[in-house]
Amino acid sequence: MNLILMGPPGAGKGTQARRIAERYNIPQLSTGDMLRAAVKAGTSVGLRAKAAMESGGLVTDDIVVGIIADRIGEADCAHGFILDGFPRTVAQATALDGMLTERGLKIDHVIDITADTEALVTRITGRSTCSLCGEGYHAVYKKPAVAGECDKCDGTLTTRADDNEETVRNRLTVYHQQTAPVIEHYRNGGKFKTIDGMEAMDSVFEKLCAILG
Ligand code: ADP
Ligand code: ZN
Repeated sequence: MNLILMGPPGAGKGTQARRIAERYNIPQLSTGDMLRAAVKAGTSVGLRAKAAMESGGLVTDDIVVGIIADRIGEADCAHGFILDGFPRTVAQATALDGMLTERGLKIDHVIDITADTEALVTRITGRSTCSLCGEGYHAVYKKPAVAGECDKCDGTLTTRADDNEETVRNRLTVYHQQTAPVIEHYRNGGKFKTIDGMEAMDSVFEKLCAILG
């Protein structure tokens, strides 16, 4: 099963992708996570991506297309994968079509998780993540039992450098200008579905599972 999860920043793509990965036993391919890892490791990709990520802009198409082309060729993707945060431009969607055709693969579902803009700002500016297990938290909606510490493991919670209000607003603008048109690329294929991301996380997950079967 090859799946694309779409939606604006903060809609819950990452959280849901992690849960789908667990339930269906297929990897979550998050270009955001991979780019953050590259920045942290100081690789050449990381050096090229850093400034765009810090400002909330997009990293160039050639970088992310290269990352995904390499990643879907790895053994753990043989039975499927979840694309989280890619494609984010029409050019990336076209490049993805090409690499899938080349490998005799196809996308089975494209699911767009929607949410309203102001709610997204509140969600993103309050969120934090466990540096060990990746569990997500929120200052208002999902507080850890002990401030700054993960409930599930010994990890400490970290906040993403780009999760401040100014950068978030920029990411939302970029989403509306560059990523929303990608929906049109998939809308008429018969594989496109929308889920309301304003609902509770568990309810969104149930709806996703109902689509995936
Ligand atoms: P979010 O969806 O919450 O904004 P991500 O973790 O998906 O966060 O992405 C963080 C940043 O990484 C983006 O703001 C962008 O700079 C970069 N990025 C991630 N995926 C892509 C992509 N497919 N194309 C271009 N840039 C990307
Ligand atoms: Zn943890």
